[in-house]
Amino acid sequence: MAASIFDPTVIGKPQQRPRVHKRTATGYIPERDEATGKEIWPRGDEGTWKKGLANAPPTDDDSISNSIVRHVQTTLARQAYNLDNLGAYQAVALSVRDDLIINWNATQAHFTRTAPKRAYYLSLEFLSRTLDNALLNLGLRDKFSENISKLGFTLEDILDSERDAGLGNGGLGRLAACYLDSSASMELPVCYTYGIFQQLIAPDGSQLEAPDPWLKHSNAWEIPRFDVRVDVRFYGHSEHATRNTNNLRLWDAQPKSGFDLISFNAGNYEKAVEASNTAQSITRVLYPNDNHDVGKELRLKQQYFWTAASLSDIMRRFKDLGKPFTEFPQYVSIQLNDTHPTLAIPELMRILVDEEEVEWNTAWQIVTRTFAYTNHTVLPEALEKWPIPLVENLLPRFGVLAHDDLHVSFLQAVERRFPGDRVRLARMSLIDESHPKYLRMANLAVLGSFKINGVAELHSQLVQTTILKDFVDFYGPSKFTNITNGITPRRWLDQCNPGLSNLITEVLGDKSPWLKDLKLLKGLLDVEDNKAFQEKWITVKQQNKERLAHYIETKTGIQVNTQSMFDVQVKRIHEYKRQNLNIMGVIHRYLTIKTLSPAERKKVLPRVVLFAGKAAPGYYQAKLTIRLIVNVARVINADPDAAGILTVLFIPDYSVSLAELLIPAADISQHISTAGTEASGTSNMKFCLSGGLLLGTVDGASIEIAEEVGEENAFLFGDLRYQHQYHPIPIEKRSPALSVILDEISGGRFGDGSIYEPLLNTIRYGDYYLLSDDFDSYLEAQKMVDENYLDVESWTKKCIRTVANMGKFSSDRAIMQYAEEIWNIEPNRLV
Ligand SMILES: *Cc1c(COP(=O)(O)O)cnc(C)c1O
Repeated sequence: MAASIFDPTVIGKPQQRPRVHKRTATGYIPERDEATGKEIWPRGDEGTWKKGLANAPPTDDDSISNSIVRHVQTTLARQAYNLDNLGAYQAVALSVRDDLIINWNATQAHFTRTAPKRAYYLSLEFLSRTLDNALLNLGLRDKFSENISKLGFTLEDILDSERDAGLGNGGLGRLAACYLDSSASMELPVCYTYGIFQQLIAPDGSQLEAPDPWLKHSNAWEIPRFDVRVDVRFYGHSEHATRNTNNLRLWDAQPKSGFDLISFNAGNYEKAVEASNTAQSITRVLYPNDNHDVGKELRLKQQYFWTAASLSDIMRRFKDLGKPFTEFPQYVSIQLNDTHPTLAIPELMRILVDEEEVEWNTAWQIVTRTFAYTNHTVLPEALEKWPIPLVENLLPRFGVLAHDDLHVSFLQAVERRFPGDRVRLARMSLIDESHPKYLRMANLAVLGSFKINGVAELHSQLVQTTILKDFVDFYGPSKFTNITNGITPRRWLDQCNPGLSNLITEVLGDKSPWLKDLKLLKGLLDVEDNKAFQEKWITVKQQNKERLAHYIETKTGIQVNTQSMFDVQVKRIHEYKRQNLNIMGVIHRYLTIKTLSPAERKKVLPRVVLFAGKAAPGYYQAKLTIRLIVNVARVINADPDAAGILTVLFIPDYSVSLAELLIPAADISQHISTAGTEASGTSNMKFCLSGGLLLGTVDGASIEIAEEVGEENAFLFGDLRYQHQYHPIPIEKRSPALSVILDEISGGRFGDGSIYEPLLNTIRYGDYYLLSDDFDSYLEAQKMVDENYLDVESWTKKCIRTVANMGKFSSDRAIMQYAEEIWNIEPNRLV
């Protein structure tokens, strides 16, 4: 009976697979003949192969510069005398890549030989930069730097030539990149299957979007694999996917029949490339929304395209093992990074039932032992749902699989468990029975997964008590868990803050142990009182501020006082993240400064307030926030009364590389979302790991950070209240201070006030994000920050203690939790 498979007791953890499985190697790592013990080589003369393969990676001085020069001359076909930074970047990247490929081949051959269980992390976003990371992880940064200078370039200029890969929006995409770094570092067999716009600010403060130039130049990190193609079928026709080989798999869409020669010959040139254009559009854009559902057909196509291509690849690798499908979950776990790749669930059903002729119940058992789902938000506007007519038109077979078979038998199981509870049934259904009907992706992800996790303690609790409560009642709590997010200390300390990294190494000895076991940072507590150490600590922060000030001056022409406190809020612009609260606080500070006498102003502690972040192009309110920030900044920065004591800047085009520059320079960073709305946050972790203190609400992972570093070393404020309450009380009563500020904006103090009315009205009436509730306690917290900063020694100790206690937030810890608590995989060391 189909329904019995929904019995909660059936859905458990995949069993441990018997270890060690021997098969023939396909890579050029010699396999040994079991009988004779002799090495087996694929073909030809063994000596010649060995000599070629022994060609050591470029680690000695000459071989590095030789390799770079060779790539300039041959791969790039450029002349040495007219080589620019970009050309040099490409040659350096290719040289580093040679080295990576040798390691990668060995790793793949090793995995093929040992056939460990593999985890696949399916993510529609990936936010990273490659060259610096590769150099650091290979331990070749200094050697390359020397050789690059010998060729007349600097490593810094060359690193600047690499555009960030614009494949993600914010935290979710960046998390995927941190987890890839950690899974390699922890030697886990994790495979990643996997542009945004460039932000410009117009003279009136509006955000403008330009195409992201990331893919303008050929990308040295991709290796096209024209030999690996899979068919992905839409409507009734199909398209090809080509695989690029790396740890991160990117798929490119090509039409199955490319160029239409008949139309071309008939003079219809547009029609000739039409098929090609529609296919390629699938992989051409990244929807620029963060924490907001868009519901566009092309997006659904993308979701299906990427998951289907990845599943086909996973299936091919599994079939190579020659095992029965019932053992699939013993060799494969698939992690869904949010609901974006959830179509992988019905797709695996389709492959098993339609193509492999596995019986429906057995197939469903396999599926539900393979998938696990990470929820990233409880915000209602971010929960994905697709109109059923759209799904059925684009993916006809899914209509049957998800709508009929799954949907019906699941509802029957719920009905048996909670007889007559129609309201519950309607909530848990895969289908939202409105007009049109919608497929609820989170419900489908829960149904098809053996484990569901949130990304911080509070968020996981909220998931289980709000949006997925019915499913907890049905399956029991053991199907749900928490894995608090983490960040990679290789990028977010060693790479972006080399000054601090070196200082830490001075205290802890060798750098490799603490970077791989971040809890060792606790050793810093031994020297927190050491005056000389504190001085060095302050010097590092100062140098980071100067590095940033230099960047700001070259980009904007504005000089900032580096003796100021640097106060930073950088993240996607979103009402729930409350950049509005920050800018209202800035206005309050400004108005206060205006009331002071010149003598009093001299005593004011100087502050630089920095903002950066993109708004989704269609998000009107978020774009208004950017305009407000830019225009408030303009007024304050031009006012002689605030000169040197308050500077406000919006830095355009936030990205990973800008983050790497901003974060190490911060004294304080703001994470001030309405409590209960930020699932975890990861930039809070990045700032604290660089010795910036946390000013935040009781939300997401900030709670756990404060627990770890000590409440007295962080500035948390606001209520732990998650539910919105309607405010019948007028704003003047709720927060007189905030009311005054709204009136100043309306009144035109920062340019034409009428522009901002839609933004101001959301606060005056309704105030969904509770700005008026938190404003006064926010100002109190800011006052504490000011007072604390005056005592340099005590502040520095807070910073040292913060860094010392950040060990928990390494993505190494997080990825090992996924490996042990969800995927059941083990480190598989390349020997
Ligand atoms: C870390 C990071 C984020 C996430 O920031 P939150 O403050 O956690 O939302 C977004 N964008 C970039 C470029 C990042 O590096």
